[in-house]
Amino acid sequence: MSDAPTLPGHPHIARRGSTLQVEDVALDALAREHGTPLFVYSKQWMLDALAAYQRGFAGRDALICYAMKANSSLGVLRVFAEAGCGFDIVSGGELARVLAAGAEPAKVIFSGVGKTRAEMRQALAAGIGCFNVESEAELDVLNEVALAQGRRAPVSVRINPNVDPKTHPYISTGLKGNKFGVAHDRAVAVYRHAAALPGLQVVGIDCHIGSQITESSPYLDALDRILDLVQAIEAAGVPLHHIDFGGGLGIDYDGDTPPAADVLWKQLFARLDARGFGDRRILIEPGRSLVGNAGLCVTEVLYTKPGEEKNFCIVDAAMNDLPRPAMYQAFHRIVPVAERPSLPATRYDVVGPVCESGDWLGRDRDLAVEAGDLLAVLSAGAYCMSMASNYNTRARAAEVLVSGANATLIRRRETVEDQLRTEQAL
Ligand SMILES: *Cc1c(COP(=O)(O)O)cnc(C)c1O
Repeated sequence: MSDAPTLPGHPHIARRGSTLQVEDVALDALAREHGTPLFVYSKQWMLDALAAYQRGFAGRDALICYAMKANSSLGVLRVFAEAGCGFDIVSGGELARVLAAGAEPAKVIFSGVGKTRAEMRQALAAGIGCFNVESEAELDVLNEVALAQGRRAPVSVRINPNVDPKTHPYISTGLKGNKFGVAHDRAVAVYRHAAALPGLQVVGIDCHIGSQITESSPYLDALDRILDLVQAIEAAGVPLHHIDFGGGLGIDYDGDTPPAADVLWKQLFARLDARGFGDRRILIEPGRSLVGNAGLCVTEVLYTKPGEEKNFCIVDAAMNDLPRPAMYQAFHRIVPVAERPSLPATRYDVVGPVCESGDWLGRDRDLAVEAGDLLAVLSAGAYCMSMASNYNTRARAAEVLVSGANATLIRRRETVEDQLRTEQAL
């Protein structure tokens, strides 16, 4: 990448001349070519994020399974498949998608509280590596489905370690009140049950305590609780080949300071070593931390609208493209693609065109912009495009993957014809 100054916390985004660039590709040119709203991803950022995990795992028996719900675009999946990653999926649709991107089925693990029989059949036929089962009832159904196919399903049971990840309640998943996993106290009994079912083969144990976690301590607490269980389950005669520690590591949205993946994993391995589990096969399921800050969304200012209490900057991206603010009151930094030193900054709420008051992208932002200017909504690589909808019959945005000076359109802009194709007027 060139020597232009980079944005703080975003080493792959630089300001060069009158425009921002991702790696060596100028955003104004991309917007002219492909229109807006436009998602732009840095391949190098993804590979650097992956490399941090790989450093943490150096010399260990480990598999990094990218949690593809964070960003399931084929072009993104291909980056991780080529890098040798496994994948964590949560639906039959994701399975079909990741196989289309070239994933090895044996490196696919299937999470989620509500797998259907059809999804189980599909995943068994594909030969996935593990089903992360979330309830006793699901164990029984999977056993039945596997026996009917003459197969044994490899299973891990998701344990709810009951630790507080100190994150937003909607993305906290490892507390007693959550719908996820099997209670810690029930674990040994559930494993005894699983081991007795002829259609199942117990291969591991898993947990996932939440998302956008910015401290090490919840992970260390969860690890201790899981290792206690591994000892108890193995003492009950059920060997566990792997420990899957889930995902959840946070990224810097707004000056957040999560531990680096390699630093976190050095701490976790020190604990594993101290407790005699240093040689155990470890799986992880990172999503956001592999893609979140790789992406941004370029959007055009349509109107500025002064108001009595607030000024509004109305842009062409909306909650259907960037759902995180509306869903979680999440913060995304928003910066102009071209700076305008001669224009005074005004405090705006940056909002989309959708007919909902929840349709905002950023509140109280000081911006020097006029209609026709481009803004970049940062940290938009995870849980944006994969959550995008057609609300208001808005077409989903296009996506570009940048690598050095190359830009590849990995998803064309959706058309209204694409949207109408599945429907039928009476
Ligand atoms: C969503 C999810 C992940 C990924 O979480 P991130 O916060 O994106 O790292 C991993 N495992 C499971 C089971 C999940 O549901």
